[in-house]
Amino acid sequence: MKVGFIGLGHMGAAMAANLVKAKHEVTVFNRTAQKRRSLVELGAREATRVAEACTGDAVITMLADDAALREVAFAEGGIVASLARNAIHVSMSTISPDLSRSLAQAHERAGQRYVAAPVFGRPEVAAAAKLFVVASGEATAIDACAPLFDAMGQKTYRVGSDPEAANFVKLGGNFMLAAVIETLGEVMALLGKAGIEPRTFLEVLTSTLFPAPAYRSYGALIADRQFEPAAFAAKLGYKDVRLALSAAETLRVPMPLASLLRDRFLRLLAQGGENLDWSALAKLAADDAGPAPSVRS
Ligand code: NAP
Repeated sequence: MKVGFIGLGHMGAAMAANLVKAKHEVTVFNRTAQKRRSLVELGAREATRVAEACTGDAVITMLADDAALREVAFAEGGIVASLARNAIHVSMSTISPDLSRSLAQAHERAGQRYVAAPVFGRPEVAAAAKLFVVASGEATAIDACAPLFDAMGQKTYRVGSDPEAANFVKLGGNFMLAAVIETLGEVMALLGKAGIEPRTFLEVLTSTLFPAPAYRSYGALIADRQFEPAAFAAKLGYKDVRLALSAAETLRVPMPLASLLRDRFLRLLAQGGENLDWSALAKLAADDAGPAPSVRS
């Protein structure tokens, strides 16, 4: 397909590269021009303005947050103003359900189509083309995007025709991941203080009660205190918990654990953790517990 890709950060660069490798005709745009270079070397065309990335059958956005996407979509010369009739905006960033709905309406008014398709998987998963895509929107538009999703992910889940449905699923998943990180941090602080090797604990738990990928991958990062370089920055994790809380507030759904996680993230950011990986949330429990004795043999 002829496709534009806007947003070449940790995730977008890997996803766009897989589209090029799958022989799609890809035009890339990123605000910081230097990040376009590696994609151009791989065979993508460079766009120097957003509009130049909107000349194909579809344009994919993978931007940091609502503010970034709003700017790129609604500005003069932005996506809504530039995309051809019937072309599709594939919105893959983790954004609010409200913005997804507004985008779907704006594209409909302009005779264009919109698919929400946020993803599960960190940058190394994106590089391996193993993302899980969660898609919502008009069925025929999702069908048309299948070759793109197949090039970037291992499976696409369709969760409804309401444009914002996929965004709700994504926010629910990220809230659960943040809760996993917090619980792992608290338990490892306890065991560390008791002088128990964290890797031993992980081996037992992930082979028995909690064999899920989230416990394995975040457990390893926390056990090794490997919070840099960030694959998913703490500031983005904070954004997602706030988005979940905001959606919950609109729908009158109390989420007390999400409120607690919001404050935990706020403390991490206040103490300079903005650009650490979001798994550094676990560091707070260890800091609270004070120095651990040396590990028992
Ligand atoms: P990232 O590395 O911080 O990249 C953010 C991208 O957004 C960059 O291309 C950045 O451009 C662009 N951007 C930010 N503000 C902008 C603005 N005002 N105007 C235009 N462009 C702007 O983030 P990421 O980790 O790739 O994440 C991207 C999205 O995917 C986020 O919504 C995140 O929540 C979601 N996500 C991330 C992961 C993960 O593990 N990292 C996994 C699943 C989903 P510059 O280069 O110019 O700054």
